[in-house]
Amino acid sequence: GRRWEVKKVTTTCPYCGVGCQFDLNVKNGKVIGVTSTDGEVNGRALCVKGRFGYGFIHHPDRLTTPLIKKDGKFVEATWDEAVDLIVKKIGSIKEKCGPDALGLLSSARVTNEENYLMNKLARAVIGTNNIDHCARLCHAPTVAGMATAYGSGAMTNSFAEIPGADFILISGTNTTDTHPVAGAMIKQAARNGSTLVVVDPRKTELAKLAKYHLQIKSGTDIALFNGLANVIIAEGLCDKEFVNNRTEDFEAFKATVAKYTPEYVEGITGIRAETIREVALGYAKAKNASIFFTMGITQHICGTHNVFSIANLCMLCGQIGKESSGVNPLRGQNNVQGSCDMGALPVVYTGYQSITVEENRKKFAAAWNVQELPAKIGLTVGELLGECGKSIKGMYIMGENPVISDPDANQVMHELKKLDFLVVQDIFLTETAQFADVVLPGASFAEKDGTFTNTERHVQLVRKAIEPIGNSKPDWEIICMVATAMGYPMSYGSAAEIMDEVASLTPSYAGISFARLEKGSLQWPCLSADHPGTKFLHSGKFARGLGKFHAVEHIPPDELPDNEYPFILSTGRRRYHYHTGTMTQRTGALEVFYPTEYLEVSCPDAEKLGVCDGDRVRVASRRGQVEVAVKITDTVVPGLVFTSFQYPDVPINRLTNPARDPISKIPDLKVCAVKIDKV
Ligand code: SF4
Repeated sequence: GRRWEVKKVTTTCPYCGVGCQFDLNVKNGKVIGVTSTDGEVNGRALCVKGRFGYGFIHHPDRLTTPLIKKDGKFVEATWDEAVDLIVKKIGSIKEKCGPDALGLLSSARVTNEENYLMNKLARAVIGTNNIDHCARLCHAPTVAGMATAYGSGAMTNSFAEIPGADFILISGTNTTDTHPVAGAMIKQAARNGSTLVVVDPRKTELAKLAKYHLQIKSGTDIALFNGLANVIIAEGLCDKEFVNNRTEDFEAFKATVAKYTPEYVEGITGIRAETIREVALGYAKAKNASIFFTMGITQHICGTHNVFSIANLCMLCGQIGKESSGVNPLRGQNNVQGSCDMGALPVVYTGYQSITVEENRKKFAAAWNVQELPAKIGLTVGELLGECGKSIKGMYIMGENPVISDPDANQVMHELKKLDFLVVQDIFLTETAQFADVVLPGASFAEKDGTFTNTERHVQLVRKAIEPIGNSKPDWEIICMVATAMGYPMSYGSAAEIMDEVASLTPSYAGISFARLEKGSLQWPCLSADHPGTKFLHSGKFARGLGKFHAVEHIPPDELPDNEYPFILSTGRRRYHYHTGTMTQRTGALEVFYPTEYLEVSCPDAEKLGVCDGDRVRVASRRGQVEVAVKITDTVVPGLVFTSFQYPDVPINRLTNPARDPISKIPDLKVCAVKIDKV
């Protein structure tokens, strides 16, 4: 074709876990627009981020060359210089303190193939299981909870099944903002007559549309779900056949929920007993009931127990293991499902094969051509950051920005400074990269081939549309360079070859190859080259055999308001932005839609504080403070304030509470106590 012709390259959106596909429009080697294609998941629909969020690709802030810090300042370096320094420093830490003195953060934003290689770099090359990523901050309780209850932590159903659900309960998810195309499907189902129930302390767009908005007190979800179960059992509406044939440990669960009468639950949650009764009956009597949830359920010190309480309810009514009926944790970032599937976690290889099983270690050691693999369970993100300067001397962070995204961010910065050596690999010089000794420039999704796995287990192709910007390289090529320089030859002719290796080692991905994906996406489990993939899980039998009930009790949040800190602060996301804003704040479009962040405050609280719309306030917790403008709104109730963590100029995570769920280690990002003063 002629140079000025527009080329269209079909690829997968780099933002949320819905996994919309679109065409990148390319002219003269530059991405000049996004247009709809016939996406497997989204059809021709796109949200504002997918449609207008491509400007970051050619933004002048892109990292185009490796950087090495000298006398506190970054200077440009060649790839050889940067990689040599990494090999020298990591080598000396390993020699002096052992491989477990190093920690790696992989990323939900890079491809499956790149996550797989990061897993391999950590375990086979460096020799540690200290690898984790931001799933720890979003769906670690889902993986822990649903895997224990059902045998799989993944979404049980598909978006295409939403229209078939006559009852939809969404809990702790502002879906129209965080997963807009999926939110639109839920909205459409409600308009077509499905009963919509929204459990959320905030009056979200879907809450306004719902038949029932259960405006729950923050952190009281277990009481609510136990209350629903209590009504269903009392009314004799539990699916006895399902419970008898397909589950275990029902009696202990039944005994525990006995005290969660609607009246008792009203006292904890603030939701009227009568409403609890009506919703319970609606759920139990529905033909197909689907539950969706996100961080409002998981980001609590009882996150895993919250997930258990939802898993219990589905089994109680047999509302799982069939079309349009199940429990669907919506993954936030584009490839957070895939990064977990690829083993970027401290205790599993790909496909959740545990590192603690000797047979698995032997299998991967043989495939990776090493004598043995480490058996000691690795550290999670929070543990790694907490050990900086103590047992952890060096870190390699790819595509993550904990200085903005992690709780108690002042402490995170303090910890990173204690490291002897930090490598950050990213497409921008992020707030975290500022602390690095070496910065490596990665290529964006538009500049490489690979796959993302969306929230409903669809593995989809990411296609290279343009050459990497400047001297940047795809993350998988960088990892190969670093591994090879460390004395472990690692090279692949293409991303497709890496996926072939993943498939050979991972039963749930065994039938997945780029050649098949060229013809259409595949949903795992996809067990062989002629297996069609799996639309919904647990049909006939749970992945673990019998579904397991868990008797769980209400656990109050770690930090509650008091005289000194009288408000609850909750954090979340905005429709126009993504993660810590590194990409969406550099698009030349999304910043125009939503230029600054504000704090949502209820009208009675604004009056009490003497503030008007736009006034600036200082919000402080026991850990830090930020200044932000006020927006008076009815989305929050008195006593609750809300903002996002997506604006680096409002680094709200300096305030949030790092207290963690003991099982999944997720921090309690949804509830912390703050005070507010007019500036
Ligand atoms: Fe991208 Fe998600 Fe928007 Fe789809 S809904 S276009 S995947 S951000």
